[in-house]
Amino acid sequence: MRRLRNVKIVATLGPASETYETIRALHEAGADVFRLNMSHGSHDDIRAKHAIIRQVEADLDSPIAILADLQGPKLRVGTFAEGPLQLQDGAAFRFDLDPAPGDATRVCLPHPEIFAALEPGASLLVNDGKIRLKVESCGADFADCTVIAGGEISNRKGVNVPDVLLPLAALSEKDRADLDFVCELGVDWLALSFVQRAADVEEARALARGRAAILAKIEKPAAVDNFDDILSHADGIMVARGDLGVELPVQKVPPIQKRLIRQCRAAAKPVIVATQMLESMIESPMPTRAEVSDVAAAIYEGTDAIMLSAESAAGHYPVEAVRTMDKVAIEVEDDPNYPAILAASRRTDGHSIADAIVAAGREIAETTEIEAICCFTQSGTTALLTARERPRVPIIAMTSVLGTARRLCLSWGCNCVMTGEQERFRGAVISAVRAARDGGFATASDQIVVIAGVPFNKQGTTNILRIAPCDERLISNTDPE
Ligand code: PGA
Ligand code: MN
Repeated sequence: MRRLRNVKIVATLGPASETYETIRALHEAGADVFRLNMSHGSHDDIRAKHAIIRQVEADLDSPIAILADLQGPKLRVGTFAEGPLQLQDGAAFRFDLDPAPGDATRVCLPHPEIFAALEPGASLLVNDGKIRLKVESCGADFADCTVIAGGEISNRKGVNVPDVLLPLAALSEKDRADLDFVCELGVDWLALSFVQRAADVEEARALARGRAAILAKIEKPAAVDNFDDILSHADGIMVARGDLGVELPVQKVPPIQKRLIRQCRAAAKPVIVATQMLESMIESPMPTRAEVSDVAAAIYEGTDAIMLSAESAAGHYPVEAVRTMDKVAIEVEDDPNYPAILAASRRTDGHSIADAIVAAGREIAETTEIEAICCFTQSGTTALLTARERPRVPIIAMTSVLGTARRLCLSWGCNCVMTGEQERFRGAVISAVRAARDGGFATASDQIVVIAGVPFNKQGTTNILRIAPCDERLISNTDPE
């Protein structure tokens, strides 16, 4: 579906968005990628949403990416005998392995690995960081803490342990079952929660066996520390500001966001900025000014995609939230400052022929009258490199691989078009011109840039660039060449 912006929108599905009508309306309003959150809903729920998305995709004849977000090693306390209770500042509180219901002095924390890794002085955060405790002493099955900042604690509240590299498996038993389930169903991206190191990404990749691309969620200090390594192993990144803002002081999040976006662009891998972008729209049809500025800031920073969580999954105004992101993106991208900012932050440290070809394609498109850059891609690499250039004209990503078209829906500026397998460059140029004209990107009197790798059946050979006129002569196949 033709969009009037380059940045992509990811919408999380949930109880507020599970019918065909709503999911189709979300896509028409601007959602390019749908996120299925494996922390909620049964496999039957997930299967039903998945089928609806694929139906919308078929009905509108435009590729849609599906991102399955695995819960990961999310830590939770056990239950309490008498419901929620208040932990007071300065009080002593114990976490242990005893499954008996908790009280004002203790609760079960059913993760022995944590006790093994904890040290006196470490912080434990409960309930989205609202409660902060300091470990005074600990052993193999307990941690005695002092409450530094009190608050309400209740059944199965989440626990964050920011200071310690936890010896936790990247994927729980549930994650492994979920991973296999969604890969069999057919998803394009797998998001991994609470990644700590590159090996976590590799573990998931081995299990996915090429069935989905791997996106690492950066939501732990360890992931920020190991980011270069994680980025080189992952296919994409999410700046998961929710948990990141719990595990680190919140004011550390904006500079990290900026840095991660720049590094992802340099690596030609898509990055999503996530969480609380339009939080107030869960309840209100109007966003706050600060939220609009936050969305705009992420776009000015050059992110590939912006994401809605509860706004589209459980809010009262899911379609309005997508529409709001769409409108903000169109406005930002219309600002002459936007391409100027993106150009200023372009990093040209690649030295391959492909790097040179895509840079040349952008230069030509920006110097002369060119309406679009059309690139042929099987693995997606040529399109990703073209997107990294952040050209001022639309990118048409042409591929015969449906999985590639869907995956590229997450990447900045990629208008994905399915095409037959190419044999000769001349035929490819004709397909490109057709796609540009059919998609409304160019008319007969226009020209486009076509980028490809020849021979077509060999990966990693981006090596050809042509300026193609879009007139009838070429399309009717009588070009003498
Ligand atoms: P979540 O991840 O919504 O799965 O927690 C995103 C975040 O933490 O920001
Ligand atoms: Mn998270």
